Amino acid sequence: MSIRNIIIEPDPILRKKSTTVETVDDSTRKLLDDMLQTMYNAPGIGLAAVQIGVLKRILVIDVSKKEEEKKPLFLINPEIKLKSKKTSLYEEGCLSLPGYFAEIERPAECIVEFIDYYGKKKELKADGLLSTCIQHEIDHLNGVLFIDYLSKLKRDMIIKKLTKQKKSLDKTVL
Ligand code: ZN
Repeated sequence: MSIRNIIIEPDPILRKKSTTVETVDDSTRKLLDDMLQTMYNAPGIGLAAVQIGVLKRILVIDVSKKEEEKKPLFLINPEIKLKSKKTSLYEEGCLSLPGYFAEIERPAECIVEFIDYYGKKKELKADGLLSTCIQHEIDHLNGVLFIDYLSKLKRDMIIKKLTKQKKSLDKTVL
């Protein structure tokens, strides 16, 4: 397992659509293991493969609390089958938008179909934070970030600040 670099907005790759995974093999599992380690190390509760530069429809999620036992979820080709009409509001953050948070309204419950770590088809009914997290991560696979739900003004301000941060970071490295 190894920790991979997380891509920070603005980066054109974060806006690309990820492709369907055809077969789940050892290289897929190696990627899943790396993603999980990268997410725990960050730390975060969800990570999409695109965030480490791999344009495949793969997610890792773990919404367990610090004191709880870890409950990693591996989702390959996740697809939302059903969304509730009832919505919920959560303050979202993103490992690709460090330091920025915003309350986002999404369907409170969803049913997601996916392929698991071993290549088996599964279905999961999610609510609460897990439901929000799954929807946030699936958005990544379609090139969508949570700031896209904000007003253009707010979104542009965040991107501008991140661009500045990136530039000063590049200078430090040089
Ligand atoms: Zn994110």
